[in-house]
Amino acid sequence: MAHMNVVEFASELKMPAPVLLEQFQKAGVAKSAPTDPVSEADKAKLLEYLRRSHGETTPKSKITLTRKQTSEIRAADSTGKSRTIQVEVRKKRVFVKRDEVEAATEEVSALQEELIVPPVPEPVVEVAPPVPEPEPEPVVAEEVPVVEPEPEPVIEVVVEPEPQVEEPAPVAEVAPVPQMSARERDAKRQTDLLARQAADLKEKQAREAARKVAEEARKAAEEAAAALEKAKAEAAARSEGERKTSGTLHKPAKADDKSGGAKKPAAPAKSGWQDDAAKRRTIKTRGDASGGGAGWRGGKAGGRHGGRHQEQASTFQAPTEPVVRDVHVPETITVSDLAHKMSVKATEVIKKMMMLGQMVTINQVLDQETAMIVVEEMGHKALAAKLDDPEAFLDLGEEHKDVAPEPRAPVVTVMGHVDHGKTSLLDYIRRAKVAAGEAGGITQHIGAYHVETGRGMITFLDTPGHEAFTAMRARGAKATDLVILVVAADDGVMPQTKEAIHHAKAAEVPIIVAVNKIDKPEANPERVKQELVTEGVVPEEYGGDAMFMPVSAKTGAGIDALLEGILLQAEVLELTAPIEAPAKGLIIEARLDKGRGPVATMLVQSGTLRRGDVVLAGATFGRVRAMLDENGKQINEAGPSIPVEILGLSDVPAAGDEVMGLADERRAREIALFRQGKFRDVKLAKQQAAKLENMFEQMKEGEVKSLPLIVKADVQGSQEALVHALAKLSTDEVRVNVIHGAVGAITESDVNLAQASKAVIIGFNTRADANARKLAESFDVDIRYYNIIYDAVDEVKQALSGMLSPEKREQVIGTVEIRQVFVISKVGTIAGCYVLDGVVRRNSRVRVLRDNVVLHDGELDSLKRFKDDVKEVKSNFECGLSIKNFNDIAEGDQLEVYEIQEIARTL
Ligand code: GDP
Repeated sequence: MAHMNVVEFASELKMPAPVLLEQFQKAGVAKSAPTDPVSEADKAKLLEYLRRSHGETTPKSKITLTRKQTSEIRAADSTGKSRTIQVEVRKKRVFVKRDEVEAATEEVSALQEELIVPPVPEPVVEVAPPVPEPEPEPVVAEEVPVVEPEPEPVIEVVVEPEPQVEEPAPVAEVAPVPQMSARERDAKRQTDLLARQAADLKEKQAREAARKVAEEARKAAEEAAAALEKAKAEAAARSEGERKTSGTLHKPAKADDKSGGAKKPAAPAKSGWQDDAAKRRTIKTRGDASGGGAGWRGGKAGGRHGGRHQEQASTFQAPTEPVVRDVHVPETITVSDLAHKMSVKATEVIKKMMMLGQMVTINQVLDQETAMIVVEEMGHKALAAKLDDPEAFLDLGEEHKDVAPEPRAPVVTVMGHVDHGKTSLLDYIRRAKVAAGEAGGITQHIGAYHVETGRGMITFLDTPGHEAFTAMRARGAKATDLVILVVAADDGVMPQTKEAIHHAKAAEVPIIVAVNKIDKPEANPERVKQELVTEGVVPEEYGGDAMFMPVSAKTGAGIDALLEGILLQAEVLELTAPIEAPAKGLIIEARLDKGRGPVATMLVQSGTLRRGDVVLAGATFGRVRAMLDENGKQINEAGPSIPVEILGLSDVPAAGDEVMGLADERRAREIALFRQGKFRDVKLAKQQAAKLENMFEQMKEGEVKSLPLIVKADVQGSQEALVHALAKLSTDEVRVNVIHGAVGAITESDVNLAQASKAVIIGFNTRADANARKLAESFDVDIRYYNIIYDAVDEVKQALSGMLSPEKREQVIGTVEIRQVFVISKVGTIAGCYVLDGVVRRNSRVRVLRDNVVLHDGELDSLKRFKDDVKEVKSNFECGLSIKNFNDIAEGDQLEVYEIQEIARTL
C-alpha cells in the first residue's frame, strides 16, 4: 500500500475527495485530479500544512481510524462445557507524520500525540516491559495496529504492552506534569498571545484530560497487573495440558498483525496466558478526551471482568469421583431441602424430576416415596427416615460426630417397697452432699440432683419407685444407669420389692441393694439377702453379682460406702458421653408454673446445654431462657449427667420426652408442630406391637425369641400355678418369659412395663383399673382376661404354635355401678344401678367386679327402667337389673358389661 491516489486517501480519511484535493493544493502539493497518486511526502506536507493552519488543535498531524469487528469463539470452559465467547476486536490505526515524529524529541511528540489522542492506553505504561513499539508507520503506510482486541467477554486479564504508537514513558512523563505549572503557563500564554488563546486553552484541557485519563489508566493497569500476576502464578501451577486448553480458548495472538512480528519477540518469554493477555489489550478508541475516558472506563470494566473470571477459573477443581451420600428422607420434604441434602442445586432436582415426568417447583413438597426415587436416580442412597426424627430434618451433629466421648457420671434411680426408706435415703444424701455448704441451703425439688464425692459425681433421680422409672422406659427413654434397691432390714422382701426387681431386670439395669434401717434392733440383713436370692438377686458373697450395702438413712451409716459402691459399679459400666456437642437429654419432670410458664427438669445425657440454646423437647420447643441447678442457682451451662431446670419452652413437655439442642429455632418449631400432629399417634402405634396373635409370625421372622408376659391374678395360688404352667410352654425356639407376676388389679405400672418390654398382660380373674385401661388403650397394649387357667395356657400355647384361632375378642361396652341391693323373696336379688359409662344391654354379658377382682361372669336376667323392661340403658341413667344365677351382689360392686365379637386373625 505504498501508493494510493487522492480518492483512496480521501476515503480513508472519510472526507470528500474534492476537499482533500483543495487541501492538498493549499498545502502546496500539486494534486489536481482525484486519481493522482499520493506519496508519503505529499501526505507529510499536507499534515504539516494542516497543523500550521489549524494550530495544535486539529489533529491533522495524526489521523486515527478505528475499526470494530465482532467474532465468536467456541471453546470448552474449565468445566468442560462448550461456551460461545463473543470477541470484539477494535483496531485503531493512527497515521502520524514520520518526519515530525522523528524530528521531535520523544517528549514533544508524545505531547503532540496526547493532544491529539489524549486518552492514551496507559496501562501499557505500567505493565509493559516497555518495548516501545516501532515508530508508527509513515502516514500512509499500512495500518499500525494501535489498538488491540478489546477484551469483551474475554477471559484473561488484559495488560500487556501494546504496540503503541504512543510511547509509554513519555506519557508517564507528561502526565504528571504539575497541573499548576501547566495552568500558569497557559495563563501566561493567554495574556501574551491572544491569538493562540483558544489553542492553548484546548491544549490545557486536553492535557488535563490526558492526565486524568493517564491516572485512571495507571490505576487500571495496576489492577490489571495484579490480576495478571495472580493469573501467572496460577497458570504456572497448572498442568501443561490445561495451559494448552486455555490457549485454545482464544485466538492466536495477532495472527493478522503486521507489527506483531516485532512485538512478539519483544515481549519476553511469554506463556500462553501472557500472549492471551497481550492480545486482549484494552485501548481507548477515539481521539478526544471524553471519548478516551469512556474508552478507559470500558477498558477497566473489561479488566475487572477478566480478573473475576480469573478467580472463578482458579477455584475450579478437577472433578473427582462422584460422592454418594446417605440421604435421610423424611415423610415429606421440599425440593429445595432435598437438593440441599444431596448438595446439589435445586434446579438439578427439578431437572431430574422433569426427566422422570413430573414438573415441580422449588418449594414443592414431595412425599417420601417420590423423594427417595429422585435420590436414587441422582446416584445417592435414600434412607427412609423415622417420622419425626429431627436428624432427618436437618443434618445436625455432622461436625460433632467425631467428638470423642468422655467419661460421665452415673445416673441412679432408687426403688423399693413403700416405707422401706427410699425418700429418706435420697433426702439424707442430698442433705449431706448437696445442701451442705450452699449459702442459705435452700433446696428445691426439681426431680433430680447430683452430688460430688471424693471419687466422682453421681446423679440421683429424685422420683423414687419403679412407676416413674418404667413410665419413662415405656416412652422409650433410658435415663438410669443403675438401680438402688432399698430393702428395709426389718421388713425384708415385699411385693413392691419384687416388682422393682422385675422392672429393673426387664430394663437390664444393674442393681445395687441398699439394706436399710440397719440401725434398728430388729434389723436382719441376712434374711434380706436370702430372700433376695430367691428373687434372683444374688449377693457377691454367694457368687452373684449384686452389691449389698448395709445403710441407715436415719444415722447415715454406710452411706459413703454406698456412694463408693455406686461409683465402683459405674466404672465397670464405662459410661461416656461427648461434651462439646449439641445437648441431648430427657425430661425428668415438667410443670406449668404460674409465674414462670412451663418449667421442666432436664437431664443432660450428652453434649452441653447452654443458656440461649434452642431445644426441642418432645412436641414442645423453645429457647432456654434460664437454667437453674438443684439449688435454684442460675447456671449458664450443663454437661452430661447434669440435671437442670429449664425455662422457656413453648409448652409443658411430658416426663420421658427426649430433648435435643438444635441450631435452628424454625426447625425446632416445625418438628414440634409435626409431633403435635397426627403422626404422633402413628409413631406410638408403630412402637409397640406385642400381640399374642402376632407372636408366631414374629417368631418365624426371627424377630422374637422370647414371649414376655406379665401375669396378674386374683390370688397368690392361681398366680403361681399360672406362672408355672406358662413357663413350661417354653420350647427350643421360644422362651416364655414371665417378667412380672403379682396379685391384684392390673395397674398403670404394669401397662408401662408391658409397653417398655413389649409384653402381653394376662389378667386372671382380675381387671385393669380405670387408669391402666386408658393407658393400655393409648399404648395399644394387649391385655387378656381369663378365668380358667387352662384357657390361658391353651391360648398362649396356640399363639406359640401359630394356631391361635380367630380371636374371640370381648368388647367392654359399659360400666355399671351397683348402688343399692334389694332382695325380693320370689324374684331374687335386684340391684339398683347407675350406668357410669357406655351402655348396658339386656342381652349383654356382665362380670361382677369387686375391687377389680372378678366374682362372677354371666348374663343378665332382667333390665328395667323404673317398672318397664327395656332393651338398653345409656350412661348417666339409673336402672334396675338382676343377674342370672347370681345373687351375691353388694353395694359398690361394679358390673363390666361386655359383648363378644369374633375378630379374624390379623396375619
Ligand atoms: P419410702 O416410702 O420408701 O420413701 O420410705 P420413707 O423414706 O418415707 O421412710 C419410711 C419411714 O421409715 C419413715 O418414717 C422414716 O423415718 C423411716 N426410715 C427410713 N430410713 C430409716 C432408717 O435407716 N432407720 C430408721 N430407723 N428408720 C428409717
